[in-house]
Amino acid sequence: MSIDRIADNVRQGERISAADALRLYREAPTHLLGRLADGIRSRLHPEGVVTYIIDRNVNYTNVCVAKCTFCAFYRDVGSPDGYVLGFDELFRKIDETIAVGGVQLLMQGGHNPDLPLEWYEDLFRAVKGRYPSFKLHALSPPEVIHLSRLSQLPVPTILDRLIAAGLDSVPGGGAEILVDRVRRLLHCYGKASSDEWLDVMRHAHRAGLRTTATMMYGTVETDEERLEHLLRLRGLQDETSGFTAFITWSYQPDHTELGGREATGVDYLRTLAIARIVLDNFDNLQASWVTQGGKVGQLSLAYGANDMGSVMIEENVVRAAGASYCMDEVEIVRNIEDAGFVAKRRNMHYEILGDPFCREREVPRMLELATARADGDTSMPSELANYEARSRSGKQLRVVSAASPESPGSSGPH
Ligand code: SF4
Repeated sequence: MSIDRIADNVRQGERISAADALRLYREAPTHLLGRLADGIRSRLHPEGVVTYIIDRNVNYTNVCVAKCTFCAFYRDVGSPDGYVLGFDELFRKIDETIAVGGVQLLMQGGHNPDLPLEWYEDLFRAVKGRYPSFKLHALSPPEVIHLSRLSQLPVPTILDRLIAAGLDSVPGGGAEILVDRVRRLLHCYGKASSDEWLDVMRHAHRAGLRTTATMMYGTVETDEERLEHLLRLRGLQDETSGFTAFITWSYQPDHTELGGREATGVDYLRTLAIARIVLDNFDNLQASWVTQGGKVGQLSLAYGANDMGSVMIEENVVRAAGASYCMDEVEIVRNIEDAGFVAKRRNMHYEILGDPFCREREVPRMLELATARADGDTSMPSELANYEARSRSGKQLRVVSAASPESPGSSGPH
């Protein structure tokens, strides 16, 4: 079929096939892809509103046994740079988030063998006890699978227990490309195969949770594999309608084992646009300003995105791989309005919470995103002594903590 004919079918709202999507993605001029994606955005969101959420992106531990080759964030078990955040540190982060109008934590971390399921349950309960209406958007599918393996309990049981403790929704991290050939090459097949990732989301949706979906492109995958990823997400969304939004970003190569080069801005905009065209059953697409910068992030609003994502407040993973963009609420609102849209705050369910918080009250300007911890702070939170460690170095640290009653485990490398 010709590009013009495929474009006409898209304009008429027809579902696109894999072959036509590939043709469009490879051959259509970038401005045509943008116009088609923008047409779908305006059909789905005719009111001209672009949303964003004020939440904080917290990585509770950087210790990880998965060792994905594209990741610059993780540290080995026993590494002197490894950390686990304490409950009190997390409460402080929540207080700071609420002070700038934030409504949830996006909480993801490494696969740390020394944090059992009970640690997560106790943390979630403690957060909900202190902040009953504050939301926990936490633990991507590979983290849920890690907990399932660690505790030898099935995924639905892990989800049920986390929901009972306070989990509100599941972030779509760890999807990378949902094609097992790619996952094997990136050393992330072990943490979750494509089917396993989708299955956690299926169980989460069945349990009544909403989740997001992501795609990290620009490593070793082909164009066909990017589209296969999108089609697998579209298939699950047909089945469950549980995804609220889709977010794509480019691989960030600095300090990773895999190395290589970052995809260009045009590649990002074309990929975003084809995602908007293929994912006809997703209501929302987010712009990834955190990897693309504010200017391409703003341009995303003409290539299918209807949401500027999160104010973030804190970021550790992308920064470790070389990107350190920052946009506080004032800057996000400026970019949305300058692109001709009305800016509104939302929650994870895309319910509108109101006009920009920074217009209602004075909030401190944020010119740099915070980090999980100050550089060099590897102190061990005291409550970790209450949880059984699985690794040899973790067990040794627990013994050291127990032997120093005055300050149980409050210092020293993790
Ligand atoms: S991407 Fe996640 S699972 Fe993979 S090594 Fe990094 S922290 Fe671990």
